[in-house]
Amino acid sequence: MSKPKRLVLILGDQLDRQSSALKDFDFKHDEVVMIESIPEAQVVLSHKAKIALFLSAMRHFAKELVGEGYAVHYVRDSKLSIVDTLKTLLKQKNITHLICVEPGEWRLKIAIEDLAKGSGLQLDMREDEHFYCSHREFREWAANKKELRLEFFYRLMRKTHNILLDKEGNPEGGQWNFDQDNRKPYPKSGPGIIEAPILFEPDEITKEVLAYVEENHSEHPGSLEHFRWPVNRDQALEALQYFVDYRLRNFGIYQDAMWTDTPYGWHSILSSSLNLKLLNPREVISTVLDAWKKYSLDLSTVEGFIRQILGWREFVRGMYYLDMPKMAQDNYYSHQRALPDWYWTGKTKMRCMQDAVGHTLKYGYAHHIQRLMVTGNFALLAEILPSAVCDWYLAVYVDAIEWVELPNTAGMALFANGGRFTSKPYIASGAYIKRMSNYCGGCQYKPDVRFGENACPVTTLYWNFLIKHRKQFDSNPRTRLMTANLKKINDADQSAIVEHAQQVLNNLNHL
Ligand SMILES: Cc1cc2nc3c(=O)[nH]c(=O)nc-3n(C[C@H](O)[C@H](O)[C@H](O)COP(=O)(O)OP(=O)(O)OC[C@H]3O[C@@H](n4cnc5c(N)ncnc54)[C@H](O)[C@@H]3O)c2cc1C
Ligand code: SF4
Repeated sequence: MSKPKRLVLILGDQLDRQSSALKDFDFKHDEVVMIESIPEAQVVLSHKAKIALFLSAMRHFAKELVGEGYAVHYVRDSKLSIVDTLKTLLKQKNITHLICVEPGEWRLKIAIEDLAKGSGLQLDMREDEHFYCSHREFREWAANKKELRLEFFYRLMRKTHNILLDKEGNPEGGQWNFDQDNRKPYPKSGPGIIEAPILFEPDEITKEVLAYVEENHSEHPGSLEHFRWPVNRDQALEALQYFVDYRLRNFGIYQDAMWTDTPYGWHSILSSSLNLKLLNPREVISTVLDAWKKYSLDLSTVEGFIRQILGWREFVRGMYYLDMPKMAQDNYYSHQRALPDWYWTGKTKMRCMQDAVGHTLKYGYAHHIQRLMVTGNFALLAEILPSAVCDWYLAVYVDAIEWVELPNTAGMALFANGGRFTSKPYIASGAYIKRMSNYCGGCQYKPDVRFGENACPVTTLYWNFLIKHRKQFDSNPRTRLMTANLKKINDADQSAIVEHAQQVLNNLNHL
């Protein structure tokens, strides 16, 4: 009996030449399928740069495969979802065997499994070996834990993979975590000269994609003017090397710092390449470790960076698969307000939001503290419906894929799951933003004013939130200090804060 022809599905965020889906590819019989689906770009109204990055990277990847002799069926511009397109193809080609790597996105995994169940298709869904930690390992680690905390997971990962350990198996430098050294603002005079990140001029494939997106997705948010993302593996490797050679040295110390017109700071800007799987986290970590020795970099910077990749990135993926689909529906505080319009335009008088949203729309990028402590903090304090906030984050960042976006937004920024893996809600007043940036100097609001005409909306909403949730904050040793400060505000001022906060909340679109 002749061998059945198998289709190997490669999704847009699975552009990995070491993919387990390609391992036993039979060049005589098998065919790769890649699908550009219009509805997938509209699940949320994605930033134009995000659509362009996915399409360009997919087309580059397909071209490479063809160059190496793979048969590739590449579908452009499908009006159907990925799964419906696939269904049509399977029928047309009379295919009974489908191979794929488990999708990162839960919705798509279920949809592919359902397709197979309903059609008698033999589905071989393989483990995503890109990650250090498998779902099984994460589940085993999480089982029976009272608290699911990054720190303990991260230590386990360090030990399991022998990363940053000395000869006795203890953490390098005697500590697991150097976070305390990594939270400095820029000097008052500003960030000084920051080595600019490496940017890639669009080639012919990318130019074609940019024109296509501009024409076919004109109603989507964001700009394509500054599109310089790595779109293939060679560029991603170049970006990695450039980062460790020139920018890693100050990554740690200024990780949380913000400054006007400084979109990237000393950050790596590698998330999109990692999430598309153009880069493997193992090669990122080994390149960073090499640079540590070569340039005698501070351990705090190296550990701080590795914690993001080996710790947070693996941890949130584990949490996502552990808690889906519930994670997408959680709403601990029952917040229901609509997302202010200026999240889509940047048109607000608040300088900090202008900058964070402005960078986002311009580049499809904002760094972690802007996401967490500027736009995320505001969304929590302003009582926005978590699913609306999550849709925004999923739409506007080039690195946004649900497995990493949702836990960060719902879990970290919004506390929507009631602290399932964080010890407290991450909230801050304008005083934090003032300390960590130069935004407040140029703002019409005053960060230290809690109510009244010039009051900073972030500050007003912060105190209002504490007043409203005083009991919760009082009962947690990690937040008790915040409510202790509340006790220093007299009753009349607390009433004025609550009254002013109500005005702010009723007026969110016009701040
Ligand atoms: C509300 C919110 C939403 C987010 N949405 C996304 C998202 O959709 N996609 C995404 O990749 N990251 C997301 N993050 C995490 C983080 O902000 C980005 O990974 C980071 O800003 C990407 O920029 P960078 O590559 O310059 O990262 P760097 O600051 O240079 O960090 C290095 C790498 O570590 C990883 N990393 C860092 N922090 C995290 C984290 N909290 N979770 C997972 N990985 C991390 C990333 O792969 C990143 O490239 C989100 C964070 C918040 C607070
Ligand atoms: S004063 Fe408030 S709104 Fe203005 S930049 Fe500072 S924190 Fe943001």
